[in-house]
Order: sequence, then C-alpha cells, then structure tokens
Amino acid sequence: MMKDNLFQKIIDKQVPAAIVYEDDRCLAFRDINPQAPVHVLIIPRKVIPTHDQIGEEDSDLLGHLHLTAVRLARQFGLKDGYRLVVNCGEQAGQTVPHLHMHLLGGRGMNWPPG
Ligand code: AMP
Repeated sequence: MMKDNLFQKIIDKQVPAAIVYEDDRCLAFRDINPQAPVHVLIIPRKVIPTHDQIGEEDSDLLGHLHLTAVRLARQFGLKDGYRLVVNCGEQAGQTVPHLHMHLLGGRGMNWPPG
C-alpha cells in the first residue's frame, strides 16, 4: 500500500524538504535517503498519482519536468551522465502516490537495475 501523499505536504510546505528548485509548475528537492551523491526528486505541483495516469493534457508539463532535470543536472555538475527514474506502481517500487522523477548522478551505475 502506498503511503499518503507526502509530496503534496512538501509542496504545501507542511513538511520540510531540501528544495533545490521550484517554479509555478514543479518542485525539486533532495531525496531524504539518497542512493547517489546527487539524488533529487522532481515533482509536478499537479497531483498525478502515477505515471500511468498522465494524459495528453500533461504533455507540456512532462516536457517541463525533463527540461528541469537537464537544468539541475548541469547545476550539479553531472557532466559524465546521470539517470532519470520514474517508478510506476507498487511492483516497480513506487512508495509515494505523486508522480516524481528521480535524478541520480555522481557515481557509476549498473544496468539492469534491481
Ligand atoms: P519512489 O520509491 O519512487 O516512490 O520514491 C520515493 C522517494 O521519496 C524515495 O526515494 C524516498 O527516499 C523519498 N522520500 C520519502 N520521504 C521523503 C522526504 N520527506 N523528503 C525527501 N524525500 C523523501
């Protein structure tokens, strides 16, 4: 069972987070349990519980999330590469029901992921 929407509370500033970027459409903050030297979560302000629930109307928003990831990767100096991850649903490991993109970098990574 996925937890309550903790990320909405971070958007509403009811729960503190190490925010590294925000604008009118999205927010980015450091993951509380980092899996790499750089581990940032990029989330839309709009509540979309899972990637499976995106629609045509979200196309621009999703592009914006990706462009934000590129900007943050540059900001954090990830010139040798980085990984973007979206876990969709419980079997994929999604624990918070609010669409989020993981930006991971600063170390070598294996493939396939576990
Ligand atoms: P996922 O497993 O894809 O749903 O990712 C959820 C992520 O949220 C995990 O990597 C958690 O470490 C992270 N997380 C949980 N609570 C917090 C929090 N309060 N602040 C920042 N990141 C969090």
